[in-house]
Amino acid sequence: MSDQLVAFPEDWHRALVLVAHPDDPEYGLAAAVAQWTAAGKRISYALASSGEAGIEGLAPDKAGPIREAEQRESARIVGVHEVEFWGYPDSRIRNTPKLRNEIADAIRWQAPDVVLTLYGGAEWAPGMPNQRDHMEFAAAVEQAYDSLDRKPRWLFCNGPEPTHAVAVKNRYVKQAVKSLAAHREYLSVLDPNKPVAEQAQEQVDRMTAARDDFDADHAVAFELLRRA
Ligand SMILES: [Zn+2]
Repeated sequence: MSDQLVAFPEDWHRALVLVAHPDDPEYGLAAAVAQWTAAGKRISYALASSGEAGIEGLAPDKAGPIREAEQRESARIVGVHEVEFWGYPDSRIRNTPKLRNEIADAIRWQAPDVVLTLYGGAEWAPGMPNQRDHMEFAAAVEQAYDSLDRKPRWLFCNGPEPTHAVAVKNRYVKQAVKSLAAHREYLSVLDPNKPVAEQAQEQVDRMTAARDDFDADHAVAFELLRRA
């Protein structure tokens, strides 16, 4: 157990974050994104859906625009100003040729050095199943990546068996907390009994915690899926 994680590469300029739903970037990688954009790297987000099925008791046509606005604000807080929503149906995302083409086109268009995406495995841990949207979307990203003639240098996901990590400074952890807390409406319905700021703090603390396999006070870990 516990081989040391490798430091995440630094010699790149552009990254594209590909996810299924609003809040996916904030659960996992926003602290790293905040640090990267502060260092002058350019990062954009593309989301398959608008998360319109994600606010209980709120109709999709109401929830979708709220979640898009919250996502744009979350992104802005960590220095990301390019956010795209592709309009695939939340909770019914499937690994179709259309989705794979959309992903491949986005990668070709943006020509990032790094692509970051969701974990696509069936379980996070025994008894902790992954969401089907995430699994389908992640599989589509891997296949789209493999189909490209000119591949980005790295494809990473934020899965449970990481290979690499970013040592993030405390100020970027704080930014990540603000970024997650920008999903105000979503989080306030998700857990009405706990203030949004407190939920965000707990989640980000967990996701950026110090680890045995990497020397840093705060770390964001990634699994390398492909290296071109
Ligand atoms: Zn999600």
